[in-house]
Amino acid sequence: MIGVDSRVDACAAMTAGRRMHGMVQELYPICRSITGDGLRETLRRIETRIPLDIHEVPSGTPVFDWVVPKEWNLRDAYVKNASGERVIDVRSSNLHVVNYSVPVRARLPLRELKQHLHTLPAHPDWIPYRTSYYRESWGFCLSQRQLDALAEGEYEVVIDSSLENGSLSYGECVVPGETADEVLISTHCCHPSLCNDNLSGIAVATFLAKELLARPRRLTYRFLFIPGTIGSITWLSRNEQIVPRIKHGLVLACVGDRGEFSYKKSRRGDAQIDRAMMHLLSRSGQAHQIRDFSPYGYDERQYCSPGFNLPVGCLNRTPHGCFAEYHTSADNLEFVSAEALEGSLRLCLELFELLEKDITYVNVNPRCEPQLGRRGLYRELGGYPDAEQRELAMLWVLNLSDGNHSLLDIAERSKLKFPMISDVAAELARHGLLVPQRKEGEQ
Ligand code: ZN
Repeated sequence: MIGVDSRVDACAAMTAGRRMHGMVQELYPICRSITGDGLRETLRRIETRIPLDIHEVPSGTPVFDWVVPKEWNLRDAYVKNASGERVIDVRSSNLHVVNYSVPVRARLPLRELKQHLHTLPAHPDWIPYRTSYYRESWGFCLSQRQLDALAEGEYEVVIDSSLENGSLSYGECVVPGETADEVLISTHCCHPSLCNDNLSGIAVATFLAKELLARPRRLTYRFLFIPGTIGSITWLSRNEQIVPRIKHGLVLACVGDRGEFSYKKSRRGDAQIDRAMMHLLSRSGQAHQIRDFSPYGYDERQYCSPGFNLPVGCLNRTPHGCFAEYHTSADNLEFVSAEALEGSLRLCLELFELLEKDITYVNVNPRCEPQLGRRGLYRELGGYPDAEQRELAMLWVLNLSDGNHSLLDIAERSKLKFPMISDVAAELARHGLLVPQRKEGEQ
């Protein structure tokens, strides 16, 4: 029967991975940016799956040292040759236009046009992804092969965009728990047709929220779907009263490629979430990387700025800049897999389960060991294949439950897996040998 169950489990797991990949596919064609209708449409698609508050913050709003930019929308963009053929056409890839390009209508000789063209000579078939958010300019991106095929002559250039006062949109989904203590999960949703960098994080975060909504929860989970950098700055500037509730946080990005997991620690370096993630990864039996904090990367830069210094880490598979397909048209639907998305979802759920169960207990019989045999807890664990380990786990939990060690501390110190430590602690608590430590101010 065990075989049958595990096959059923594997099947259910694949379904979530395939559904996430389906979501990536659905969102892939949308031309997103840090503001505008593509971003709004993306949030609306997320809202069909989970409850989402969509916020609109007007252009010109000061947010710390920044200002919410004008809203950008793109209707069409192309370059036509002398015969009237579209030789660069945003309808075939929305990466073709430099994101946030100002409107242009011009006729230019190739020599002048080339000053506005971007290619990747090392990967002659790929289109690069370029942006110009905070400097008004325009440009096109194309493959090196396309560029090489352009004949001398005059070209008609059209970027039918608008850059006007509007608003910056972001989505927020709060999954309330028994306590006000929060876990922040943040993912950027401002890139156009790029799958690993952008859509993988959106899909995994959406499915995490769905899963958590269906589970009992001690902690409250707050999911942010925001444009990179300006989105987290905007959210932080509008929500300073919520910040003290954030006890753990995770930025999700690049979680759909086939690479091994890579976790970047929070600026604190020893936050509970850092230790929890390291514990899980080190005992997963899978190759992985742990990286120290650096002020470069995704929105952890803002959450971990010194005025906030939140316990927020960042989970990737292959980190940004470490895969050749990064910020190119090759970060496409084939580059991300259902299995990888699934694995990322499972790791995050394991992490949240650990955080939910990482309680500090107090041993009510701290003077010498309690007599476990009398309670049926010692040498009578015949039903467990790992009876010896469980016994050892019990001794560790009883010894270290002095009010100063949480179950994660005990798992780290004993080098036993957290689920076993947490299991035996629950059993010892059922037998009245442990009580949860009261937090200051609790009755
Ligand atoms: Zn990016």
